[in-house]
Amino acid sequence: MTISAPISAPVGRPAPIDGASLPPITDLSLAELRFLVTELGQPALRAEQISGWVYRSTIASFEEMSNLPKTLRTALAERYRFVALDQRSALLSVDGETRKVALALADGETVESVLMRYPQRSDGTGSERATLCVSTQVGCPVKCAFCATGLMGFARNLSSGEILDQALHFLRWTRQNPPIVRNVVFMGMGEPLLNYENTMAAIDRLVDPKCAGMGVHRMTVSTSGWIPGITRLTEDPLAVRLAVSLHAANDDLRTCLVPLNKRFPIADLMDALHEYQSKTGRRVTFEYTMLDGVNDAPNLAHQLVSLLRGLDSHVNLMPMNPVAEIPFAPSPWPVVEDFHSILRAAGIICTVRRQMGRDIKAACGQLYADLKRTSNSA
Ligand code: SAH
Ligand code: SF4
Repeated sequence: MTISAPISAPVGRPAPIDGASLPPITDLSLAELRFLVTELGQPALRAEQISGWVYRSTIASFEEMSNLPKTLRTALAERYRFVALDQRSALLSVDGETRKVALALADGETVESVLMRYPQRSDGTGSERATLCVSTQVGCPVKCAFCATGLMGFARNLSSGEILDQALHFLRWTRQNPPIVRNVVFMGMGEPLLNYENTMAAIDRLVDPKCAGMGVHRMTVSTSGWIPGITRLTEDPLAVRLAVSLHAANDDLRTCLVPLNKRFPIADLMDALHEYQSKTGRRVTFEYTMLDGVNDAPNLAHQLVSLLRGLDSHVNLMPMNPVAEIPFAPSPWPVVEDFHSILRAAGIICTVRRQMGRDIKAACGQLYADLKRTSNSA
């Protein structure tokens, strides 16, 4: 069963977007915030007080920043919006493990973000944890053949504040509804490496101890294979994790599934990844979405084994999440298991990913499908 009705006011205190023409305060780096408060005649340390409220509290307006002088609170509210995003609707999956929100941007566009909660393992090990999946663009220009976001086309890049606010939205909510978010994956709508500066600026503030203070190794950027972005990431001081959406180990098939492969074929992609690994020492995760009768045959598993030889990698296999308008279907479970055992037998670290939030279309590649249908029928 699907709970499809919007739940009223489900997340903290949803703040309406006041003064939509103003930029969001989360678009500012800490250095810019320091500059701003100095310009407003205040000591620079006020910037850290403000970032404490913005990144580590549950307040919903400048007015509530009780340790700031009233004049500063008013000056901030005249120049900035407290939130970049407004909550349009929230859907909650039946078992409560997945929560998806559609967040309205000031220009009327919409992005979606998903919170996934993982319980403690059945053997009692591990701990309850939450992972957040955020969007980096409205739509996506890459247009992968099986992805709902690709289907909607591309509208624009998100600003750093708009990316950050998705995370802050859930960080505030999980402060009152644990477990707290530990991991953030940039696997929502859009190709993060095509919006490099804003994505990395958002991550910078998520990991800065004076802002949200999360662990940098808990940030995963997922790419469809934009090599210039991988090269930049290789040199970037922010040591984020990298996931590559591969889906096929030969060019003919991959170009059908991920059109970007025509421009950046597999051999070039692998060269960039070897370079990335030799310079950063970090393992690369590969996402492999299993499409029935398309990329799930045993010989394709053997191709993948050959391709990954010599690279420290982790493969995530995931049966495709169905999308109404898209003519692909998930691989049957026994086929996924066979593929999995071929990789494991070859010594490749490989997990079959649990599907979460299917009932609210909150799974990978399903974002935006519902909203698009709603607005079409409106
Ligand atoms: N653009 C980036 C990140 C967003 S997509 C990328 O492609 O990596 C996040 C993940 O969802 C990617 O691995 C993508 O291939 C996968 N995905 C897209 N559509 C899907 C679908 N219908 N079912 C399962 N996974 C899908
Ligand atoms: Fe874009 Fe990723 Fe979807 Fe491909 S899978 S269209 S890159 S969001």
